[in-house]
Amino acid sequence: EVKRNGKNGFQYYSSVLDEHVMNNIELEAALRKAVDGEQLIIHYQPQISLHNQQVIGVEALLRWIHPEKGLIEPGVFIPIAEETGLIGEIGTWVMREACRQMQQWQQQYGWNIPVSVNLSTQQFHQEKLVSAIESILRETGLHPQYLELEITESMMMDASRSGQILRELTRLGIQISMDDFGTGYSSLSYLKLFPIHKLKIDRSFIKDITSNEDDKAIVSSIIAMAHNLKMNVIAEGVETREQLQILMDNGCDDIQGYYFSRPIPAKEVEQMYLNPLKAAVEEG
Ligand code: C2E
Ligand code: MG
Ligand code: MG
Ligand code: MG
Repeated sequence: EVKRNGKNGFQYYSSVLDEHVMNNIELEAALRKAVDGEQLIIHYQPQISLHNQQVIGVEALLRWIHPEKGLIEPGVFIPIAEETGLIGEIGTWVMREACRQMQQWQQQYGWNIPVSVNLSTQQFHQEKLVSAIESILRETGLHPQYLELEITESMMMDASRSGQILRELTRLGIQISMDDFGTGYSSLSYLKLFPIHKLKIDRSFIKDITSNEDDKAIVSSIIAMAHNLKMNVIAEGVETREQLQILMDNGCDDIQGYYFSRPIPAKEVEQMYLNPLKAAVEEG
């Protein structure tokens, strides 16, 4: 389990990577090397429509494969990247690579689905965010409608600035998803003020949805609210057929979770597409 020790996540890191404890300077150097040395890779997790059982998108999820330590999860190193400022470079790399990959899939297989990319708080507030994304789209040739950005409620605190950024992004044709919806502390008023296309119900509400009536009530209310506000809604962390059934009964649009697929390497996504997913959905 992730145990964060104060600000730097050092305790978890050193317990996972036991024999050799890195200090923050070594860690930063290791992360920098990871960026330069192709130790970062992206896994993609399919998102499935409950209306037509098709894959309607994939979320790009970053992994660090350390040459000696093995796989290090984003929950561990993203906070460190934020603290050291490396997140700028890492975030740009993820954006470019995810856009490049999706453009290639479109060329090669004709897949017309978007890739979702997570934005960190720092990235979101970077002055050059919009122009940086614009030039990545131009470079990779990905049409903006096939890029979706995942933001979180905590980024909505500075309402006027956040609204401005979101309007610039959507003016380009990019889609905006509110990640981990329901776990932040910001007021709901941003939902009417800002151009947000999709709510992602946080996994914590889905986890006990089959046994906990409160979670079920919260989830069905979020779905109803999203639809009343003309937004799509996707449930995160769906692991069982029973959870899926409740979400279907409540009119949830899409789901993402281990029930269909974990985040997987690009090559496996291609394999998955070659096999009919529809059967997997219908048979459970
Ligand atoms: P997130 O954006 O909410 O991503 C969903 C997380 O839930 C992923 O964890 C995914 O592997 C996990 N997940 C999906 N389905 C299930 C399920 O059925 N059961 C369970 N138990 N988990 C499931 P992951 O990949 O470890 O990423 C954790 C977080 O790290 C992400 O949460 C996101 O906030 C952040 N992150 C990942 N990649 C990036 C990135 O490129 N940039 C930034 N800024 N943050 C990233
Ligand atoms: Mg996300
Ligand atoms: Mg999430
Ligand atoms: Mg999250």
